[in-house]
Amino acid sequence: MNPAKLAELIRDWLQLLTRLFSGSSTGENPVKLRVIPRDQHPVSRKNISRGALKTLYGLHEAGYEAYLVGGCLRDLLTDGQPKDFDVATDATPEEIREVFRRSRIIGRRFQIVHVRFGPEVVEVSTFRAAHDPDESGAPRSEGGMLLRDNVYGTIEEDAIRRDFTINALYYNIADFALYDFLGSRKDLDDGIIRLIGDPETRYREDPVRMLRAARFAAKMDFDLAPETEAPIAELKELLRDVPPARLFDETLKLFMTGYGRRCLDQMRRLELLGMLFPQTQETLDDDRDGRIQTLIESAMINTDRRLNQNKPVTPAFLFGIMLWPVIVENMQAWLDDDHPKVQALHQAAGEVLAEQNQVVAIPKRFAVVMRDIWELQFRLDKRKGNQAERLLEHRRFRAAYDFLLLREQAGEIEPGLGEWWTQYQNADENERRQMVQQLGGAQRKKRGGRKRRKPAAS
Ligand code: ATP
Ligand code: MG
Repeated sequence: MNPAKLAELIRDWLQLLTRLFSGSSTGENPVKLRVIPRDQHPVSRKNISRGALKTLYGLHEAGYEAYLVGGCLRDLLTDGQPKDFDVATDATPEEIREVFRRSRIIGRRFQIVHVRFGPEVVEVSTFRAAHDPDESGAPRSEGGMLLRDNVYGTIEEDAIRRDFTINALYYNIADFALYDFLGSRKDLDDGIIRLIGDPETRYREDPVRMLRAARFAAKMDFDLAPETEAPIAELKELLRDVPPARLFDETLKLFMTGYGRRCLDQMRRLELLGMLFPQTQETLDDDRDGRIQTLIESAMINTDRRLNQNKPVTPAFLFGIMLWPVIVENMQAWLDDDHPKVQALHQAAGEVLAEQNQVVAIPKRFAVVMRDIWELQFRLDKRKGNQAERLLEHRRFRAAYDFLLLREQAGEIEPGLGEWWTQYQNADENERRQMVQQLGGAQRKKRGGRKRRKPAAS
């Protein structure tokens, strides 16, 4: 055996032995603590919320370890603004409760504590260990999905059970240093989304991690590490096992937090969109002139813009757009069967929503609004007499009008109607009356014309 080969063999053996005896390897990512002192990182107490700081200090003064962890550090290190701050500690939920008067234990899959400071709520969780899939006997579904994981552990174990390296960085309030067990800082600097541990196992444990991978890549314009991306093609079907209510939450995070357009691109690139919107994906597969794609993209852009301007948005609008091409297609069958339009829409909506709800559960309160917006699409061209005025007073008018504009932009309908409504909304009472009159005249003329032609032809 040549020396190089021998050296390689010895190295492999040593690695295996270290893994076996240290009990702290994640397969792909070796666990090695690197402490990054305060003067070598930009996380400043100035950028940490008042509530989070009070929580950290409260725990610290009570003799516990206290760290900021997860998404907030990722955001702080990539110039993002954290939307909330999560704290991790070695104190148990009961011990945390004793430190903070205004706190309560929330029991979901595992217990965490919500600590309240005025309007701010800080989520505090006790270090947790992930179960070893082979040894722990932790409850799993047939596909390998983790059903419960509520065993306390060390900070190192807590890091390993997190999803991506970029979400596993800790900020210690005791010395203001970052604690990096998995090369998180480097992946953040390099712009890499890397699953911790063996990717296939981690996706099987929780298939939602595939969606999170797509979302973080979109949010920060990062790349997926090749070994993190590769298994998705084969494992994406596992998303079918995820409860539809959870997928609804994830869908909102993907498309309703200000970077929906980029999430859409990632979801399509990874071929994941069809796992959330199977019916929509079918229409996209058949979208020869690209109109459906344009419609969906412009809705995403529109929603992102509104969110960035702090304007209100409703999931009903976006879900309404996603399913609109399916509704149009489904309606056709009923129309061909001589059903009137309103009835055809009603039937189609029932069928399409029922199928969608099997995958992503849309709460009733949004489904009701979606149906309203869809129905208004067929009413917005009926503007004669006092119809326009009545439509304007409809509580979904604004959403339906925005919806119409997008359809027009995408080339689904002839241009004109949207512009008419834009002018109508800006017009005063007199002008509005005129607009409606002109309309009535033109429409009557047309009908008259047809009538005149008829006898001539016979
Ligand atoms: P955002 O709040 O922007 O969605 P986040 O990273 O804060 O991003 P959360 O869902 O708030 O996401 O989760 C907080 C932390 O919990 C994550 O940073 C990650 O460390 C861990 N985590 C969340 N979901 C999972 C998961 N499915 N598997 C493993 N760890 C997870
Ligand atoms: Mg978060």
